[in-house]
Amino acid sequence: MASSILEALEIIANNIPLVDKEIIPIEMSVGRVVTEDYIASFDLPRFNNSAMDGYAVKVVDADKTVSCSEVIYAGDNPSMTLQEGTAIKIMTGAPIPQGCEAIVPIENVTVENDTVQLPSDIKMNNFIRMAGEDIKKDTVFLPKGEVINAYTIASLASQGMTHVTVSRIIKVAIFGTGDELRPHFEKIEPHQLYNSNSPMFLTRSKALGCDVRFIRTSADTLEALESSIKSTLDADIIITSGGVSVGDKDFTKVAFTNLGMQVLIDKIDIKPGRPTIVGHIDNTVIVNLPGNPLASMVNYELFIRAIIRKMSGRTDHRHGTIHTVMKSDFSVRGGKHAVVLGKFDGSSFEPIKPQMPGMVSPMQEADGLILITPEIKNLESGRKVTMIPIKWEFCSRLKEELFTR
Ligand code: AMP
Ligand code: MG
Repeated sequence: MASSILEALEIIANNIPLVDKEIIPIEMSVGRVVTEDYIASFDLPRFNNSAMDGYAVKVVDADKTVSCSEVIYAGDNPSMTLQEGTAIKIMTGAPIPQGCEAIVPIENVTVENDTVQLPSDIKMNNFIRMAGEDIKKDTVFLPKGEVINAYTIASLASQGMTHVTVSRIIKVAIFGTGDELRPHFEKIEPHQLYNSNSPMFLTRSKALGCDVRFIRTSADTLEALESSIKSTLDADIIITSGGVSVGDKDFTKVAFTNLGMQVLIDKIDIKPGRPTIVGHIDNTVIVNLPGNPLASMVNYELFIRAIIRKMSGRTDHRHGTIHTVMKSDFSVRGGKHAVVLGKFDGSSFEPIKPQMPGMVSPMQEADGLILITPEIKNLESGRKVTMIPIKWEFCSRLKEELFTR
């Protein structure tokens, strides 16, 4: 029985196995997912220090002229104690001396010979950066399931970490099926067709951080399909397109089933792209997408993206959404849970016209898609819609409402 779109996403969220881990240098880890909680082994800052170039003072000396003969620089390890009636010149980042109650910035004092005239409003702890106010010792500063970015690396480096444990890169294998298909780098006859799906999945999967192999197009025979499958079973995900409908030569499902595929999702209640299968042979996840390019692209974005995120251990593996409005009227046939591809200009959603399951050209323009329920027949200009972005990764930890209703 067909799964609904939301059921299919739940099956993915609950059944996709995680890849194992590896340890890599932090400089190589952007885009990777951490597989453990990282706990701070010391406070950051490690010691109370000055937030300004200025003077270390006592609060009681506000509005007084105090003597000043010493300086503390960043990198110093001061041993002196600040006495009432004196100030110590101090640079940004330098450890504050014993007895210091506040820092007065250089621009707020008047200096004359060895004395400093202090302002009248000095508050306790002013311009002192406290130990641990940034990252507290023994607390989690980077939780498991987060995707590493340059700023995460700053946190890791600030804790003196050289390496980080992350999910290993997901291995994807891709092949198209269809006697009519030829690779895009070969000469073709007028009745033949270039395989545009496989290069699309290859480059999209790479963009999502996977390591990808492209196995040539498979002929529409059980033998050819089974041989393609056998040569890809070491992958974490096998993505195929074509041969999943009810045509006489649609053998994709039979071939995978013959080789032991357990089916998790058999058809999805979505237009376009209903004949989509998700299953697994041991730990290799299999996704058979329909051959129609736009249908397969839509289901890649909705389901394979979710599979990749889940498999990599991300906490935010669910689709994030953007709430926007229709830029103009758009009529749909209705009666189905359907997908509308469109462009997003920052404030409104403009459907791409025309968009049919067999087309290639609408896909390159799409910034996102909206999911609509069978009751919707017309999306009038100004109507609120919920968009799932495609051109950029916008993910969520929560089960957001994905449908425009
Ligand atoms: P199928 O799902 O095999 O029935 O194919 C549906 C339609 O998609 C047919 O018109 C196929 O020629 C076309 N098609 C299948 N695979 C691909 C592919 N890899 N690239 C482009 N078009 C394809
Ligand atoms: Mg076919």
